[in-house]
Amino acid sequence: MSPDGRPAGGDRWTQAPQFLRAEQTRGPLPADTDVVIVGGGLAGTALAYNLAGEGIEVLLLERSELNREASGTNAGSFHFQIAIHQFTERDASGSHDRLLREVRLLLEAARLWDALEDELDANLGIHRTGGLMVAETPEELQLLHDKQSIEAEAGLETLVLEGDELRRFAPYLAPDLPGATYCPVEGHANPFLAGPTFALRAVERGAVVRTGVEVTAIDPGFVVRTSAGEVRARRVVNAAGAWAGELAALSGIVLPIRAEGLHVNVTEPRKKVLEPLVQHIGRRLTLKQAASGTFIIGGGWPSRAEAPPARYSTIWESAAGNAAVAVRVMPSLADVRVVRMWTGVWAATDDLQPVLGESVALPGYFVCMAPTGFTLGPLVARRLAANIARGVPLPDEYAPDRKGVPWIERM
Ligand SMILES: Cc1cc2nc3c(=O)[nH]c(=O)nc-3n(C[C@H](O)[C@H](O)[C@H](O)COP(=O)(O)OP(=O)(O)OC[C@H]3O[C@@H](n4cnc5c(N)ncnc54)[C@H](O)[C@@H]3O)c2cc1C
Repeated sequence: MSPDGRPAGGDRWTQAPQFLRAEQTRGPLPADTDVVIVGGGLAGTALAYNLAGEGIEVLLLERSELNREASGTNAGSFHFQIAIHQFTERDASGSHDRLLREVRLLLEAARLWDALEDELDANLGIHRTGGLMVAETPEELQLLHDKQSIEAEAGLETLVLEGDELRRFAPYLAPDLPGATYCPVEGHANPFLAGPTFALRAVERGAVVRTGVEVTAIDPGFVVRTSAGEVRARRVVNAAGAWAGELAALSGIVLPIRAEGLHVNVTEPRKKVLEPLVQHIGRRLTLKQAASGTFIIGGGWPSRAEAPPARYSTIWESAAGNAAVAVRVMPSLADVRVVRMWTGVWAATDDLQPVLGESVALPGYFVCMAPTGFTLGPLVARRLAANIARGVPLPDEYAPDRKGVPWIERM
């Protein structure tokens, strides 16, 4: 352990973070390779790192710079507790077993993040602050109890705090909130560090990363056509996030992933009072206080789509609505000023499951995508690498062509 109680790890806590230098991501494309990954977000960079670790020749292509889209514009929260949309947005049949599987996946992601700073020998800004999910009504409190029993069965530690117990534990919350679940392993990491660190380590393992290279067509075989020339590849992975559907269409594949714009508010700094991540079981809210004292308030409020290359723009109703929910939950925020906002675009699917694995319709064509993809990105990338390299099976429910859901249909 280091003197401040952190695990051993050399100078990683004090040194400036190390990233790829620009010249390491420029240069000619190889004529051929085994795997081409399209997309330099967390999914693509973590996959490149894991594939290179499996001894596979890999080329990652990013049209812009690494980590500029969802992976560098997210709120960095670890979402391990069952969220409201997991209860409500799909049919109820079999929901108990489905939720058990989903929580087990999240638990595996929690364990992976636990070991990641040591594995990558880098500071990823991981803070296990714990996470509270609050209820505002008796019905929501019942939902918290229901979800807690499933989480316990799956092996995720959460506990329901009610009344005075909650007020003692979290005096900053509105005193009339009837209850909350507390999950000790929740927290956050730094989105500016995770993807770029994976990219650096991938290159150290032999992966080739090229930025400023847009994939414009993928012909069967595969011939990957780009703004910087052609590459022959045995296999292709679509890790294009919100643009995965557009990319799949280049190969004649329909991949109904929705691009959704999201909004985040940031406040002026205040004395540190809030340690855990705070979410709401019934309304859109994630709330945390950074080490600098600023509050970061998000949770899925929309931003407005703009034509590329413009970034999505902010919406007043989202800024105000998001802030209002935060103040309802933590009244002392009422006089704290929002000083900036940002937007990002994430890939959403109707069943909120990852889309992970090889397309049956187009063998050799893989997809690597997880909604809640900051939490799950490193895990789905590791699992897909093991599948590509060693044939380790992936769950059927993530399959790009999964039965009963027209995720991918050959056109
Ligand atoms: C505002 C916001 C807040 C969020 N908060 C959280 C959170 O707190 N916790 C959490 O777990 N998740 C959160 N998410 C979701 C999470 O950020 C994403 O699920 C995750 O980052 C997706 O990573 P990705 O690599 O799949 O996609 P991206 O990071 O979007 O990467 C895809 C890349 O593909 C590139 N690309 C696309 N098309 C092409 C092409 N034709 N050629 C070359 N390159 C191409 C793009 O330029 C982009 O860089 C949030 C998302 C947003 C937007």
